[in-house]
Amino acid sequence: MTTPWIEDTPLYSIDPHEFTAILLGTGTPRAYPGAAKPAVAVVVAGRILLFDCGADTVRQLIDAGLMPQRVRDVFFTHHHYDHNAGFPDLFISSWRTHVGVVAGRAQPMRVFGPTRTQEVIGRFHHALEYDIGLRISYNKSDLAGAELHITERNTGIMLDEDGLRVTAFEVDHRPVEPAVGYRIEWQGRVLVISGDTRPVPNTVVQASGADVLIHDAYNAAWLADIRDQNPELAIQVTNPAKYHTTTLEAAQVAHDAGVRHLVLTHHIPAPKRTAEAEARYTAGMAEIYAGQITVGRDLMRVSV
Ligand SMILES: [Zn+2]
Ligand SMILES: [Zn+2]
Repeated sequence: MTTPWIEDTPLYSIDPHEFTAILLGTGTPRAYPGAAKPAVAVVVAGRILLFDCGADTVRQLIDAGLMPQRVRDVFFTHHHYDHNAGFPDLFISSWRTHVGVVAGRAQPMRVFGPTRTQEVIGRFHHALEYDIGLRISYNKSDLAGAELHITERNTGIMLDEDGLRVTAFEVDHRPVEPAVGYRIEWQGRVLVISGDTRPVPNTVVQASGADVLIHDAYNAAWLADIRDQNPELAIQVTNPAKYHTTTLEAAQVAHDAGVRHLVLTHHIPAPKRTAEAEARYTAGMAEIYAGQITVGRDLMRVSV
């Protein structure tokens, strides 16, 4: 008789030639059903890179078939909580053993991000000190996996290994300063992740000729409706929009950069999952940008 435990999630088998972005979370600080907090897993060069680490990241990784132990490298775009609150969970979940699935991370976790990453992520790590100590002394977890290596940089090459290159570039998410986007290059293919930002020329430069651009976006008319229906919250509704990008502005960035495929994410708020709602959300974009437009959804896989 077999033990009646829940079977392990089928593992996503990584093709060493694939370059795929998996949207783990397309949401925002506001909690909506079906839109987890922001994170993108990039399967490239036979490994998994994680860009941002919202609170739902471990659950979303598992639902995508990517066990957390397979994540060693985490890149942060900025330190709004919706992009980093999942870090403590990921750090321990990637390190501990999951019997029968895959052994825990036995290497230091590598974290990359702009100024303030050492301070913020270092504090998360420090807050785990008691638990980390117990896992080493009692659970006998691997010592190296308890370590954290942080690289802090606002612009330039973050990672350059085995033909895989990740470059950070500054965007404009003020008052969050600095905030960065990432350009990921491998075997002649290019993926760009804007992070949270206003439309900026730097994204156009870095996304020039990119295969895929994942850009934050909101529909300006929809947000104006929310503001008008909640006049007492006008400032709270409209201030955050000032440091993001409208759907039409994202289309302009994609057009100016000449990217092949534009994927929208970080929706404020997300359209319903119907063709009609998505058409209204993206209205006017096709007149600006002739390439492929996708409304990003949680667990969607985008081939680069
Ligand atoms: Zn955000
Ligand atoms: Zn933000």
